[in-house]
Amino acid sequence: MKRRSFIQKTGIAGLGVALSPLACTKTKALDTEFLILGGGLSGLYLAYLLEKEGRDYILLEGSGRIGGRMFTRKDINRDVGGKGIGDGYAEVMSLINEFNTEMIDITDYMNSPTAIYKDGVLHNTWDSKEPNPRMLQYIAFGKEKQLGALDEWYKRPELDEVYSKVLKRNGLSEADLDLVNITANYNDVRETSVMNAYHSSAFRKYNISKRVLNFKGGTAPFIESIAKRLKKPVLKNKMVTSIDDSGESVLVTCNDGTSYKSKKVVSTLPFSTLRDVKMNASFNTNQEKAIQNLNYTKITQIHLAHSELFWEEDGSPAAMWTDTPLERVMNLSSHRDEKQIACWVNGTGTTFFDTMSEKEVAAYTIKKMSEIRPASTGKIEYLGMQNWGKYKYNKGAYAEFGVGQAAWFIDMIKPASNLHFAGEHTAHMSRGMEAAAESAKRVFFELIN
Ligand SMILES: Cc1cc2nc3c(=O)[nH]c(=O)nc-3n(C[C@H](O)[C@H](O)[C@H](O)COP(=O)(O)OP(=O)(O)OC[C@H]3O[C@@H](n4cnc5c(N)ncnc54)[C@H](O)[C@@H]3O)c2cc1C
Repeated sequence: MKRRSFIQKTGIAGLGVALSPLACTKTKALDTEFLILGGGLSGLYLAYLLEKEGRDYILLEGSGRIGGRMFTRKDINRDVGGKGIGDGYAEVMSLINEFNTEMIDITDYMNSPTAIYKDGVLHNTWDSKEPNPRMLQYIAFGKEKQLGALDEWYKRPELDEVYSKVLKRNGLSEADLDLVNITANYNDVRETSVMNAYHSSAFRKYNISKRVLNFKGGTAPFIESIAKRLKKPVLKNKMVTSIDDSGESVLVTCNDGTSYKSKKVVSTLPFSTLRDVKMNASFNTNQEKAIQNLNYTKITQIHLAHSELFWEEDGSPAAMWTDTPLERVMNLSSHRDEKQIACWVNGTGTTFFDTMSEKEVAAYTIKKMSEIRPASTGKIEYLGMQNWGKYKYNKGAYAEFGVGQAAWFIDMIKPASNLHFAGEHTAHMSRGMEAAAESAKRVFFELIN
């Protein structure tokens, strides 16, 4: 059932709150046929598809750069968002080929062993007696019924339960869950739905990627090559503050006071930021609930540079899981001579660093690394951190469905009259960058049909 509703974040839990109607400038002429909100991969790809079809659009991006969660931070020369893709990502691979993007195959480098630091002891490899947190998760999981298709994750409410319950049913202890929390890419396995894990697992199984690829020189050149093909420049620093759908047209207003009127609007904004936008549109009930409540995974990365390969000195693998606040130490290099390591902290663990100044984070990390890996002493330096949970343009790294939330999916992606939804969180089948691209293609057909 469709109903007109006003949504604005109130700072308190609950559904949309009725506001006085937004001032829709009925007399303003249409600025364009389609207005796209958000200049990440999904927004850019959609603009590119519309342009190839000869359709008119304007793309508004809130920040001062394009790419969204594909983010090569030039100040530290690191990709801090999505960077790895499988060669089975059909949509992204077709764009990569179309733009002659140079890729690096990192499959073998990525599969190198990982050490475990637990209770003050560094265990060398995965076959040590210590349980490998990553494997713990999969062993337990593998005994459960798996999904038969990529898009089943939102169609099987009878399988939807808290992830930790499934892991415990298969023999994991509370202590094991603490370890899994370090490695599973969710806020907390004691709260998140197992449907996220089922979906990821189905994506790995059915997407049939054989190789893992990185973008040579970071994701920025790829993103810029899409933008360069667009005849209309992306309008940056246009933070959308309100969307008013009169039923005949939509008026979008930005924080600089400008407004744009179009026949249809496509929001690619993560729901974590869309819920800050004042909206007047015909949302269905599940859609409204999803916009207000869909969870987003918090990730904080602490990027480091090493002057020497300290792991070759102490003989343990470069990457490791730890039971310290640094959680995972990842070797993000694509080959031996690249110097990229980062601590990767997920979910509830991120709060440890949230209250620290950057100087304190740097000092803590270098000291802790030195305790865990004495060989790193004097050989690593702090580059910078990326706190995705607090980054105002995303407020989280990716959508994470809570128990019962997957059942909202099919309603939450339906057009609300003239307002359409794309973005990673709206993909039926894929995850990550491929999800962003898949969603752009879906909405492209919604618009042109
Ligand atoms: C740390 C991290 C690691 C990842 N690793 C991988 C990986 O290895 N492989 C993979 O495939 N995927 C990975 N991903 C996921 C992948 O990067 C994303 O799924 C994809 O880039 C999302 O694209 P999008 O267009 O849906 O959203 P976004 O890129 O987030 O685009 C949304 C845009 O909207 C803008 N915006 C927000 N609010 C407003 C507003 N009010 N007004 C105007 N504009 C606004 C934002 O600035 C942003 O540019 C990772 C993501 C993160 C954060």
